[in-house]
Amino acid sequence: MSGPSVWWPTPARPSRWFSQTELDAAARYNDPLRHSARLRDVARVALAVGAGLVLPEGRGLVEILTHTLVFAAAFWAPAAVTDAWFEFVHEPKFPSVVPRAGGSVPPAHFVVGSISTLVFTAVVIFVGLGSWIGVMGRTEFWPLVVIMVVVALGGFGRRSGASIARLTHGVEAADADLSGELREVAERAGVDVDSFGVVERSGHQPGSPMTGHNAFVAGLGNGHRVVLTAALAEASPSVRDHVVAHELAHVARRDLTVSTGAWIAAVAGAFIAGGWFGPALHDAFPALSELSALTFGAAIALALGLLPVAWLSRAHERRADLDALRLLQTADVEDVREAFVTDRADLRAVPRLGRLWASHPSPAERLELAHRALSRD
Ligand SMILES: [Zn+2]
Repeated sequence: MSGPSVWWPTPARPSRWFSQTELDAAARYNDPLRHSARLRDVARVALAVGAGLVLPEGRGLVEILTHTLVFAAAFWAPAAVTDAWFEFVHEPKFPSVVPRAGGSVPPAHFVVGSISTLVFTAVVIFVGLGSWIGVMGRTEFWPLVVIMVVVALGGFGRRSGASIARLTHGVEAADADLSGELREVAERAGVDVDSFGVVERSGHQPGSPMTGHNAFVAGLGNGHRVVLTAALAEASPSVRDHVVAHELAHVARRDLTVSTGAWIAAVAGAFIAGGWFGPALHDAFPALSELSALTFGAAIALALGLLPVAWLSRAHERRADLDALRLLQTADVEDVREAFVTDRADLRAVPRLGRLWASHPSPAERLELAHRALSRD
């Protein structure tokens, strides 16, 4: 199987792979989520601009601290409010307030989760701002490097709900039948796996990476632990094996190491670029405080710097899909389709601009790629 290039997009034609009913169902689920993400972006920018205009200059540490908290709130508050709203409407988190079937997350979980997000975000932003100040002041370089790595890893962890959930959710050992089936897949992929597990179902937001047909690999070095979502553990063996083979392909290719390195480079580059671009922005718009200008400078540089990171990530995903098909000789396009259709993924083609920053190719594109790869066999 030589297959098409993984580095460039394959045309995405959703109507070829999904019925109108399936596309409509995906849209009904994903449109509100997309809408809330837009609202969140607008709220963040508005709060950041507001803070930049209101805060007086020249207060040193006081300004940094205030700015940090405003920024943390800007990141946290709109997300928490919109999430709470969707939970309230669709899948209530507060069964004691609105008694409806399906509510499983107690309010205390929501409060603790929100506070921990606020604290974590405040620390990450404070460290980030500190490093920009460091760039500006031309202070000792080595602490700056350490800070950048910490910020980069923090950002990496926040990118995926699954990354955090790995640490916080209970995992049950897979039964002997399931372990035996998956051990064969791991042996074919050439990855040493210590154990297989299934992540508990309760406490996950519907549509999150933890409720669909998904799996992840935990552990560094030689021993790995493969964890499946409950939905995937109950799926048909061919769908299950394809998703696990895809994840093992990432491990065999060391994709996570490469993408983490690329992410750190992009963040470090953004901080350095922000250090140069920020003052220019401050000169152009003197009403904006120096710190706000630095923040915006770095944010713009980061948005640009993450374009190649996302491009690399999409290439990794295409390659892992092809590896999985190659590994499981019996897998076909229908297995890939089945995983997406039952996953509440957005089946439509993502708008062009959104695709530039997307970590994964759209489902229709991945199906087209699988189809082309298999028909060239
Ligand atoms: Zn993947």
